[in-house]
Amino acid sequence: MAKPGKIRPILTVPDPRLKTVSEPVATVTDDTRALMDDMLATMYAAPGIGLAAIQIGVPQRVIVMDLAGEGEDPQPKYFVNPEILDPADETLPYQEGCLSVPDIYDDVERPQSCRVTYLDYDGKRVTEDCEGLYAVCIQHEMDHLEGIVFLDHLSRLKRERAIKKVMKAEKLKASA
Ligand SMILES: [Zn+2]
Repeated sequence: MAKPGKIRPILTVPDPRLKTVSEPVATVTDDTRALMDDMLATMYAAPGIGLAAIQIGVPQRVIVMDLAGEGEDPQPKYFVNPEILDPADETLPYQEGCLSVPDIYDDVERPQSCRVTYLDYDGKRVTEDCEGLYAVCIQHEMDHLEGIVFLDHLSRLKRERAIKKVMKAEKLKASA
């Protein structure tokens, strides 16, 4: 059973730690669960729909997500060592955002469906089909585990402009 977690600071671009390739988790332990509790609390507080451990500076292959709609009960999901299987040949654009790239949104083209296999909160193996927002979100979060942010899928010009904007906003926040 999940416990209330602590809210941790979220890294923003161009923090070099976001380029880290995260390491697999050897076994899902109470420490892993405490990390996932903190990640979920941090994601809800932001608020966001997905978060990878590296976004709070922990280079482990762990993701949390909640795709519940407005007014629905929370549906937290926990992914340890996730792997994408069978990405569709057909791609779809979706306007993505990221807690590490606040207030920037742009279209990213990704396979429209895939499968994902992972260990859950209790360390049990789960394999699921993903489509729609689930497919977008899991592929976006998987990128984080490889040190990739969604800006890396955009043109260099758009990427540099976005990073400048984020740096400026973070500087203002720090001096406020
Ligand atoms: Zn992200």
